Amino acid sequence: MLTITGATRIVIDENTERVGDLVLDGGVVVAGGIPNDGSNSNSNSNSNSNSSSSGASSRDDSARSGINEILDASGCVVTPGLVNAHHHLFQSAFRTMPGTRGVPMAQWLPTMGAAYADAGITPEVAAAAALVGTAEGLLSGVTTVADHHLAWPSGSDTVAIARAVTDAARSLGGRLVFVRGSARDDPQEAAASAEAIVSALLPGVHGGISADGMLQLAVGPAGVHSDSRETFELLGEVAARHGLRRRTQANEQVDVVIALERYGRRPLDLLEDWGWLAPDVTIAHLCAVTDDEIVRLAASGISATHAPGCDLPMGWGIAPVMALRAADISVGLGTSGGGSNDAGHLFADARLAMQVAPLVGPPLEARDAIAMATAGSAAGLGRPELGHLRAGAAADVCIWDVSGVADAGVADPVAGLLWASPGRRPRHVIVAGRVVVRDYQLVDADEADITAHLHALVGR
Ligand SMILES: [Zn+2]
Repeated sequence: MLTITGATRIVIDENTERVGDLVLDGGVVVAGGIPNDGSNSNSNSNSNSNSSSSGASSRDDSARSGINEILDASGCVVTPGLVNAHHHLFQSAFRTMPGTRGVPMAQWLPTMGAAYADAGITPEVAAAAALVGTAEGLLSGVTTVADHHLAWPSGSDTVAIARAVTDAARSLGGRLVFVRGSARDDPQEAAASAEAIVSALLPGVHGGISADGMLQLAVGPAGVHSDSRETFELLGEVAARHGLRRRTQANEQVDVVIALERYGRRPLDLLEDWGWLAPDVTIAHLCAVTDDEIVRLAASGISATHAPGCDLPMGWGIAPVMALRAADISVGLGTSGGGSNDAGHLFADARLAMQVAPLVGPPLEARDAIAMATAGSAAGLGRPELGHLRAGAAADVCIWDVSGVADAGVADPVAGLLWASPGRRPRHVIVAGRVVVRDYQLVDADEADITAHLHALVGR
């Protein structure tokens, strides 16, 4: 059992905030806090009498050993673990590459492709990049990351690449959703690879989620601009066979332009024809969508992922998040990959989402941005146990220290999580009831080793 005591505020979900103690046991939330009396003060007067800290000296393996651990959260806001619904972890090894900023997609793609070829798209590089990306995520509060992996050299051992990435995430204690993507891959090869990855990593599992909930598999062509109808259909068949979620990207401007050029139609028309506007599909980006398309998207039951930290630097514009939400489309948040975003800090992008929303519609409130980065993303992954802290939820928790000068003078500590202290990191992070980041440090690995390993492989 792990008890987090004396929190200034506990964000249970979009509609509920409490104060006091949060109790985790057996990898799930048992009970959380008492009603907030309305003051924003650091009230732990209602905490249990045994809540007087133990902090850094306590054990890391309480969930497995049955040891009772107490984490002192006085001066802290507690939130659900963040869910990064759209990343390309491989790109973590390829950030700020020359020739990839302020250039059209037609130039970005071959530049990134050349850099990949130079480093080698091997299990070893994929693992090193995934370790970096997953570690960066955990250290910034991301307890679940969806990795839309798009780099699959023809003829390569794709199961080995997938296994390398999934092992990397597991070694740090983070949850991973590994999306067998495709970008101009041969359709038959992509489908056979997806089938092989499912058989190897989740044998005998229907629904695409491991028994311990730490690994989920999904499929995802990069978009209609890169993949054919056959790829969408064949990967869709793999998904249907195994009960996997489907993910793709649509309606960045380039996607729209290429769809019009190649097919004389808009991307969503194609996705609809190809059977990819459905409730098990999540679409990232959605920058250039019309009002009519928003209505169609809502009717189809798809969910969306907002990725402003990619869309803005790539010049794709600002997705109409408030209009999507107003149409009752479930919207999550993702960073997208290091090739466009350069950072995997989801709360930084939640802040960016709030900053740019008023340019294209109504403002986005901090609590809504946090909900997108938690329950919204989890909904798009088909994971109702993630992204909230109601009793029975997965015990994925971030503890954010708001007692420093960057939070002094903050009247609303939940809004302050995003508005104050950009780039903040959580003091402690818990996944499935186990502490994986303690006092700003990874528990299961040394940050310096992870960085040095990637540097040794790719020179960065
Ligand atoms: Zn993306």
